[in-house]
Amino acid sequence: MDHALPPMDVSSRVERLRSTLTDAKVDALLVTNLTNVRYLTGFTGTAGRLLVDADGVLFVTDGRYGEQATAQLADSSVTAQIEVAGAAGQTSALVARLGRLAGGSRLGLEAQSVTWAAQRDYLDAFESVDLKVVPTRSLVEKLREVKDLGEVARIESAAALADAALEQVRSQLDDGPTEVEFGLELDTAMRRLGADDISFETIVASGPNGSRPHHRPGPRPIRDGDLVVIDFGALVDGYHSDMTRTVLVGEGNETQRRMYQVVRDSQAAGVAAVRAGATTGEVDKACREVIADAGWADAFLHSTGHGVGLDIHEAPSVAEGGTIELAEGQVVTVEPGVYLPDHGGVRIEDTVVVTGSGCRVLTTTHRESNI
Ligand code: ZN
Ligand code: ZN
Repeated sequence: MDHALPPMDVSSRVERLRSTLTDAKVDALLVTNLTNVRYLTGFTGTAGRLLVDADGVLFVTDGRYGEQATAQLADSSVTAQIEVAGAAGQTSALVARLGRLAGGSRLGLEAQSVTWAAQRDYLDAFESVDLKVVPTRSLVEKLREVKDLGEVARIESAAALADAALEQVRSQLDDGPTEVEFGLELDTAMRRLGADDISFETIVASGPNGSRPHHRPGPRPIRDGDLVVIDFGALVDGYHSDMTRTVLVGEGNETQRRMYQVVRDSQAAGVAAVRAGATTGEVDKACREVIADAGWADAFLHSTGHGVGLDIHEAPSVAEGGTIELAEGQVVTVEPGVYLPDHGGVRIEDTVVVTGSGCRVLTTTHRESNI
């Protein structure tokens, strides 16, 4: 199904990264986070590093990925010097390239993904070069926040698959499956419909298990009177979707029905608050106020949302007090919840893309309690 997806604008990304290096006070950046490598080059292998400096790009990988790297970088129209070698050869190639920088130049490493051990190894490996190795944060992740149309199309396609999968299996909830069984049905349906994979380990949290927001599915059978929190997504061409729906099996009690209505109102208020220029804190507040007014402020156990893209959780975080201004093209979730040990949990989550005037909701399964 990938052939139906519009192309992504990969080739401009290195240049956008390069334009941030001066502000980050580095002359070159060694990109080692594989998700960031993928974003910048289209390379999907499990071993590859990218050195970006003012003059160009060096991509190093090992013999398993030589052919793939050449093809994928060409497909993405990314111009780079590609070196295919073992570990020592890759180091030599990096050292040779770094040796062309002016003496005393600063090389950035990605502090959030380089281990302490790897950092020590890089210091040793680059000892012969006159440069200073410094930590950087989120340089590529920042670029990844705003999605191009091709990226949004992939997330939307993943969301549509997840919607269709839930539609296929939802009636089985009435047959009393265990959480594990229902989760497997959902996962299998997503794969059969064409998802490359599931987006993350599907959450099916029934009855008392629902009061733990990240419960792992277990052997408990789903039964009448349960609230069932179902949090899941699909993966399409590296891009994730993320949606939660909560089902009330049978009539439930008055508290459960009220929990549902409050979370639904809260979630709708959050989605209505999303627009370019609104802060992440304002979106969180819109959700939190509705739940607080119902007297359940302490039962909303997590933040309101997060960015979604090549990672299931990425920037920006939509959390209490957040001051980041949302921008057109960002993709975020809105997912308030109320969790009460005696009644279970309710969470409703949509993935939305920010527009100038509001947002477009990518996850479209209806939000009634009887899905
Ligand atoms: Zn989710
Ligand atoms: Zn989420």
